[in-house]
Amino acid sequence: MISDKLGRPLRNLRISVTDRCNLRCQYCMPEKDYVWLPRKDILAFEETSALVDVFAELGVDKVRLTGGEPLVRRNLTELVRLLAEKPGIRDLALTTNGVLLAEQAEGLRAAGLRRVTVSLDTLVPRRFEELTRMDALSRVLSGLEAASKAGFEAVKIDSVVIRGINEDELVPLLEHGRQLRAEVRFIEYMDVGGATHWSPEKVVSRAEILGTLARRYGPIAPVTEESSAPAERFRLSDGTVFGIIASTTAPFCASCDRSRLTADGLWFLCLYAARGTDLRGPLRAGASAEELKSLITSGWRARVDRGAEERLALRDRSPLVPIDTLRRDPHLEMHTRGG
Ligand code: SF4
Repeated sequence: MISDKLGRPLRNLRISVTDRCNLRCQYCMPEKDYVWLPRKDILAFEETSALVDVFAELGVDKVRLTGGEPLVRRNLTELVRLLAEKPGIRDLALTTNGVLLAEQAEGLRAAGLRRVTVSLDTLVPRRFEELTRMDALSRVLSGLEAASKAGFEAVKIDSVVIRGINEDELVPLLEHGRQLRAEVRFIEYMDVGGATHWSPEKVVSRAEILGTLARRYGPIAPVTEESSAPAERFRLSDGTVFGIIASTTAPFCASCDRSRLTADGLWFLCLYAARGTDLRGPLRAGASAEELKSLITSGWRARVDRGAEERLALRDRSPLVPIDTLRRDPHLEMHTRGG
């Protein structure tokens, strides 16, 4: 196990399998058009698998597949099967917008996927369409249902809470999750790359979320657990557990063991990092596992990133990256590096 400069181990790898997405959420991809990664640069499944072998030898035991929207990548179950077979990877999960999940849930489970998180921010059809620019709420709800029947170890619902958009839906979302036995996690709106419409006023804080839920459900108790997971978990008096990911007002960089691999093989040490390490180039040039290991080791050992904490310390916060800079370097987009 290797540690970075702040003593944080390398354990968690988020792999974006595509930068493409079938939705255009206002908080992630609000623009009309985007610069996409060249197709020839996208890692083949065998290449991703080879890199995961190297990461696993260095201590990574949790892998999450992301995008863009991972289910738009053709034959994703093949990658899931390759990764599920690795003894070092004890947790294999996927985050999806759910649009294509109804058709794919069973196949993904059969291929060895353990856990699924579905992004769902509203249960109101017209609002869903305004937020994502696609009339697809019923497909997402069917996808969620299919996932809850497919036998995954856990199904979760991630809801980004934005003032003026969906802060009035905390209770309905929680109730929907409860019906499906899917834990709901409320996420503070983050000023990551691509969130070009972000402003501090639109952030609904953890304190506010807890206040709203306490007014409806009564006392809320924190769940105490040892974990590097980003969500703090809470329990209602009836036993329902939910999470809050307070990346904006109470960042958790101090325990962050996550890094991110883009679909074209750039390795980022933080969601906010300006630059990543190219692993595709050396891999395609024939670098040995030992050489890749040493590249990754030296990168992680030098890591001092704590992007969200640094953002919190700023007085005047505005969107992280201006739109013209995003156009020049799509790697700065959250949909490219995986949220
Ligand atoms: S901002 Fe960076 S260091 Fe902090 S939790 Fe997110 S990925 Fe980790």
